Amino acid sequence: MRLPVYLDHHASTPPDPRVLVKMREALEVHFGNPASATHAYGWAAASLVEAAREEVARLIGATAREIIFTSGATEANNLALKGFAGARAGAPGHVVTSGFEHEAVREPLAELAARGWRVTVVPAGADGVVDPAAVAAALAADTALVSIMAAQNELGTVQPVREIGALCRARGVVFHTDAAQAAGRVPLDVENDRIDLLSLSGHKLYAPQGVGALYVRRRAPRITLAPLVTGGGQERGLRAGSLNVPGIVALGEACRLARAEMGAEGMRLRELAVRLLALVRERLPGVRLNGHPERRLPGSLSLSFEGIPPRRLLAAVPTLAMSSGAACASGEGEPSPVLLALGLPRELALATVRLALGRGTTAAEVDYAARTLAEAVARLREEGRQLGLDVSPPG
Ligand SMILES: *Cc1c(COP(=O)(O)O)cnc(C)c1O
Repeated sequence: MRLPVYLDHHASTPPDPRVLVKMREALEVHFGNPASATHAYGWAAASLVEAAREEVARLIGATAREIIFTSGATEANNLALKGFAGARAGAPGHVVTSGFEHEAVREPLAELAARGWRVTVVPAGADGVVDPAAVAAALAADTALVSIMAAQNELGTVQPVREIGALCRARGVVFHTDAAQAAGRVPLDVENDRIDLLSLSGHKLYAPQGVGALYVRRRAPRITLAPLVTGGGQERGLRAGSLNVPGIVALGEACRLARAEMGAEGMRLRELAVRLLALVRERLPGVRLNGHPERRLPGSLSLSFEGIPPRRLLAAVPTLAMSSGAACASGEGEPSPVLLALGLPRELALATVRLALGRGTTAAEVDYAARTLAEAVARLREEGRQLGLDVSPPG
């Protein structure tokens, strides 16, 4: 077993070895610029890019022409939201979003707000799931856009994308979803789910960091965006710059593998997560699973432990690579706003770990993680008691 055990697959997944084979081949052999239309090196690179585009499209039920390659989900979210606003004529409109979006959605929406857009934030329920009825209630006459993520990165909860998509379509509102966590882990279908814009990220589905894609619906309705990066006309003029061919090839292969293996791998990860939680609970009282118990990404757990001193847990388990929440704010300094919004008290939010299992995770690692985590929590509870800290005894 390689230590520390990697349990942070929501922050980044290790590239699949099969993805790396394709990527290396692209780097070594097919190094041409896909825009070079005058020779075979360019043609080869272009055909690899188009094959990858096809695979990304297939994963989400889109057509290849609707896929725009980007540097990741952050850029895809920025292009979707600011590009949508930028292409719209007339006065700023109204946008509806959830209370627990990734910064890569929150900050672009804050920019829109600064430009005069009204932003309505729909809070998630105590189970970490957005209620479609609350989204419906937030829609106004001038609502142009809804942006709600497909799966939440701190809690692992899967959102009712299909219900939200249906009500947006019925009202003629454009629906964007940040699917960085969901794509490749749970089924998504832009037709059945009525999604108009969808962001995904390579390094959340076993391709490397620095590549991603935005799905942009081309018909019924056709979505128009203004580019954020100009100067070369690549990607239908929506994202200029020479293409990251090795990254795109990797993303394509990763999407192909995810589509082929999602069902079986999802079942394996679900079982491992159930086992991990059971093993921890066997050893410890006072373990709280945050977010809906079933509507979850396979292999994803957010656990809080009663009765331990705040901000001590991660340092107490150096052989487990985990985080307390989102990777971008993964210190334990401040309690996660996402957890507080679920109604967790501060001290419980500061005693929370996010365990995200992945393709390489073994049953032996899960057993080790459960034992190590339970021992650390028991030790911290004892320490807290000896220090006379005001920590409630586990109930
Ligand atoms: C990781 C992540 C992002 C950012 O993706 P990058 O490819 O790293 O830019 C955006 N949204 C969510 C939900 C994420 O988990």
